[in-house]
Amino acid sequence: MSVKVNDMCYMWSADDDLAKKGEYGGAVTTLMKYMLENGIVDAVLAVEKGADLYDAVPILINDPKDIAKSAGSLHCGTLNIAKVVEKYLDGVNDIKVAVTCKPCDAMTIRELIKKGRIIEDNLIMVGVNCGGTMPPVKTREMIEEVYEMDPDEVVKEEIAKGKLIIETENDEKSFSIDELEEDGLGRRTNCQRCEVNIPQMADMALGNWGVIGPLAGKATFVEVFSDKGADVLDKAISAGVVNIEEANPKGIEIRGKINQSMVNLANKSKEFAYSDIKGDILEVFAEYQDEFSRCMKCYGCREACPICYCPECSLESNGPDWLTKALIPAAPMFHLERMVHMVDSCTNCGQCEEVCPSEIPVAKVWDTVNTKIQEIFDYYRGVEDEGVVSPLTYYQDKGLRD
Ligand code: SF4
Ligand code: SF4
Ligand code: SF4
Repeated sequence: MSVKVNDMCYMWSADDDLAKKGEYGGAVTTLMKYMLENGIVDAVLAVEKGADLYDAVPILINDPKDIAKSAGSLHCGTLNIAKVVEKYLDGVNDIKVAVTCKPCDAMTIRELIKKGRIIEDNLIMVGVNCGGTMPPVKTREMIEEVYEMDPDEVVKEEIAKGKLIIETENDEKSFSIDELEEDGLGRRTNCQRCEVNIPQMADMALGNWGVIGPLAGKATFVEVFSDKGADVLDKAISAGVVNIEEANPKGIEIRGKINQSMVNLANKSKEFAYSDIKGDILEVFAEYQDEFSRCMKCYGCREACPICYCPECSLESNGPDWLTKALIPAAPMFHLERMVHMVDSCTNCGQCEEVCPSEIPVAKVWDTVNTKIQEIFDYYRGVEDEGVVSPLTYYQDKGLRD
């Protein structure tokens, strides 16, 4: 096998049609099609455009002819696809699937693999770099009102040199990302805090950062992270469905710098978001009681959270009355219970916050607590080695929970 873990290259589709449809040379789409056509997987899980560009809908494809539907990136695709893998595909228990995943998807999938909820051997994780996703409704409004562009004509969105650039076929405008985000626009707040932009926990990562020279905009930068990823790439290259070229060293350096500037932005956001929150985990929890006092106990955050997968949730189970029925706002026990069950694996994916009808910054609360857990246990969600389980799983194994 000539492709190895840690290899980097530029890649683009040998199929002109897919190369045109894809965002940067159609590498992701072509790899997916190849895996499906050659029985490496039974199906491909990706997202497709729903009603408009701002509507990302998960789609399970088992006919290679349908693959083109998933070509291109949807920058308002805020869903966490790990939930689909775990819940709706039964953790890929009896089906082999290739899934496109952003870092937060990939991190959540890793956590669910460790918890025995997803079968790793049946999954190929085709990671895509991510600098942030934007909430659909607010983004349409921002493009109309701030950028004075037609949201339906947008073809590309990018963060570069501290600016959020929006492009249509004939126009391009940019505004300072800091200023937009200070005004509550731009990326979701969890994305502003996200410091994992290249999904190194996937089998491979693909993106446009670092593609320079004549291939800029026409090829994808690929980095290999696992033997499984190397094997798929090796086969696709040998079959001639994708073209590759060695990555330019200057391009590799630029990619590293872009990644570092995203990490710096995230650290700045975290510092700002957590600056007034001091103390231990319970003090952090207490700090947010005012926010939680708005909770209408709709269970939306639990339903949306990919880490909350128990068939019978202890918040609703028979037996000890953990939670007084019919009490609104929910007693602190409601959120404390969720906290002890999922917070060590919380990947800051933002699903809980997006669905909360009371606009409680739930993802921020759990990310704050998770940051404390990282400090205490030295456990980093979604990126630790296979053998390292999350701290609360460890306690469970030791029987300390009982
Ligand atoms: S949380 Fe991170 S990986 Fe997920 S969408 Fe936001 S920026 Fe991308
Ligand atoms: S608690 Fe919220 S941010 Fe954390 S994993 Fe669950 S849905 Fe995602
Ligand atoms: S989604 Fe919001 S209102 Fe509903 S249970 Fe969760 S925190 Fe409470």
